[in-house]
Amino acid sequence: AHLPLTVAHELGVPTVHRTVVDAANFDHGATTPALVSVRDAVDAALPTYGSVHRGAGLPSRVTTGWFEQARVTVGEFVGARPDDEVVFTRNTTDALALLAHCVPRGTQVFAWESAHHAALLPWGRRNCTRLAVPNSASDAVQLLRSALAASDARGKLVVITGACNVTGEVWPVRELIAAAKEYGARTVIDAAQLAPHREIDLADLGADWVAFSGHKLYAPYGAGVLVGRRDWLDLASPYLPGGGATARVRHQRITWHSGAARHEGGTPNAVGAIALAAACATLRRHHEEIERHEAALADQLRTGLRSIPGVRLVSVLGEDRPNVGVVTFTVDGYDPALVSLVLSDEYGISVRDGRFCAHLLCDSILGDGSTAVRASIGLATRAHHVGRLVDGVRRLVEAGPTLDYTYDESTGWT
Ligand code: PMP
Repeated sequence: AHLPLTVAHELGVPTVHRTVVDAANFDHGATTPALVSVRDAVDAALPTYGSVHRGAGLPSRVTTGWFEQARVTVGEFVGARPDDEVVFTRNTTDALALLAHCVPRGTQVFAWESAHHAALLPWGRRNCTRLAVPNSASDAVQLLRSALAASDARGKLVVITGACNVTGEVWPVRELIAAAKEYGARTVIDAAQLAPHREIDLADLGADWVAFSGHKLYAPYGAGVLVGRRDWLDLASPYLPGGGATARVRHQRITWHSGAARHEGGTPNAVGAIALAAACATLRRHHEEIERHEAALADQLRTGLRSIPGVRLVSVLGEDRPNVGVVTFTVDGYDPALVSLVLSDEYGISVRDGRFCAHLLCDSILGDGSTAVRASIGLATRAHHVGRLVDGVRRLVEAGPTLDYTYDESTGWT
């Protein structure tokens, strides 16, 4: 309703979704449906593709061209600098694991406990200083400053969440990068949740790396990316030693490629890269409309849920923070798993319940071991879906104990 029709047509999500029942998709934070432009790009590539960087035949040369153009398009999407590297990976988890593999010995890594496990865990406990869950944007900056001031490590890397996957709050990325720079620290942005919703400009922000996933950006599974400075990447051993990563192998000595190829061993997911680039190109043209569309729906959802007795919305940095359209909530007296089952079974609404791969954050804000329901808005969400979700939760609260569901330890709610 809030998206101009011409934009909706180009993005194409409604076209894809008309083939399904009018499903209310509130799970964009997990994975997004593919755009029509992405489907078209894949359709064009599938009949033609050949091996990448490995053949003299026409299909191989054409596919190599597409793959390398995808690199350029993805770099442009995040404002990469001319000498930045764009390395294709499987997803954000893989991209951050790649960077962790390349972090030079003696580097101290700083990450908030509120981070997604993909951003919190790859650095190893010994090298990683975990900062407490902050209670505001300025608290996050302060926690970082204190930790950096206390560190005498030779190298430092700060892992910054672009937007939180539990609360949708946009982190004070610019301020955190500025603080990191004061102490000579490098920065990487986990943009898995930010990239689908906001413009990112690496050059303008002065961040060193950014990581994100295609499947959260209206492209299919299996392709993600790490974009940024090449020095640490070129100094490290190959992430996936093998064909493609090697310039020359002799008995006595192996010469590895530098650049992206060094870490992209094996035949690459070229179709995934083409799909990811198609999504980047389309989203890049529509950042403002997307932001407006999602903000209006998120407002509607927040206001609706707040009006229901017993519904509590979750916040970490404060409700006034910019948000990418994620609303996480609990309903007093109801197991979040039951809430999401009822919403799915009775209203055709997809939400997610659980701890969202951010256990330390959920323990801290919900209570040890507690879970919540997450509704995440995106391009497949419409205003009437929001109305349906709010109605569903309201009726659930009103229905009270008459609900016809049973709980079993091994199968959960049925
Ligand atoms: N970081 C954040 C903030 C996320 O939300 C996710 C996905 N839930 C990831 C990293 C990991 O992404 P992927 O599963 O695609 O590797």
